[in-house]
Amino acid sequence: MSNNDTPMDDSTDYSDSPDPTDDSVIETNVADAAASTDTTRPPADTIVEARNVDVFYDDVQALDDISMEIPERRVTAMVGPSGCGKSTFLRCINRMNDRIDAARVEGELLLRGKNVYDDDVDPVALRRRVGMVFQAPNPFPKSIYENVAYGLNIQGIEGDYDEIVEESLRRAALWDEVKDQLHESGLDLSGGQQQRLCIARAIAPDPEVILMDEPASALDPVATSKIEDLIADLAEEYTVVIVTHNMQQAARISDKTAVFLTGGELVEFGDTEQVFQNPSSDRVEDYITGKFG
Ligand code: ADP
Repeated sequence: MSNNDTPMDDSTDYSDSPDPTDDSVIETNVADAAASTDTTRPPADTIVEARNVDVFYDDVQALDDISMEIPERRVTAMVGPSGCGKSTFLRCINRMNDRIDAARVEGELLLRGKNVYDDDVDPVALRRRVGMVFQAPNPFPKSIYENVAYGLNIQGIEGDYDEIVEESLRRAALWDEVKDQLHESGLDLSGGQQQRLCIARAIAPDPEVILMDEPASALDPVATSKIEDLIADLAEEYTVVIVTHNMQQAARISDKTAVFLTGGELVEFGDTEQVFQNPSSDRVEDYITGKFG
């Protein structure tokens, strides 16, 4: 079954829906979308801070001297052309790059002031605090319930699993759609539901930060829109760091935007509204307006 199939919701006709992944069909420009970002909330504390981070894959440098402060309980978007290091940066935060033999990280990556690369940091414990959702929904071939409870089990988290599973599915805006089929396979859900199931699985251990690597790029427009709404809700409680190739999406959902350009350089980082409406770098302006990238 493809990720775009929607067996539980096949009465919906998507043919007239605008495709949020297709910039050409969206009438609002990115600057207008960014202008709607809520600026009324009080300033947030920094939860993740990169200090002069370089990443190499063998001899090839993928990130060049990245410094950035990511605010707590906000959505921070990473944008930029393919290959400029966005996913690599995301994977630094929960040390997923540890799993790539060729990868070497230099500099400091602080989570609440503690360098996650210190010798005394256990990567498994770190990943409980910093969860991750990937581009293609990847539920396990297990029941919906087990998919959510799985992380709890392997991380030795105690508690009332029924309660945690329900709460996680509610927070992932999936509970009402699946509450009567919790013991059926997660793989029978539609692509969008599978991605929300993966978000529920990431939420279940109650992380502080949720990393999302293009979480909607494999989904249809309606499912994409639900994920975007969900991300906004999640930021009430969690810090969300999202990689997206979709500028409209970054403008719509993020509070902060980081623009990476070729060479693994962080060229601009700031409030989303400022980055899209008044970027300080000409290269970023060219990228945002589509002249480059
Ligand atoms: P983006 O997310 O912006 O598309 P990536 O972080 O995936 O960029 O890649 C940045 C650079 O690092 C690219 O040149 C890419 O080829 C390289 N790279 C990424 N992952 C690996 C890997 N596992 N091994 C070797 N090189 C990699």
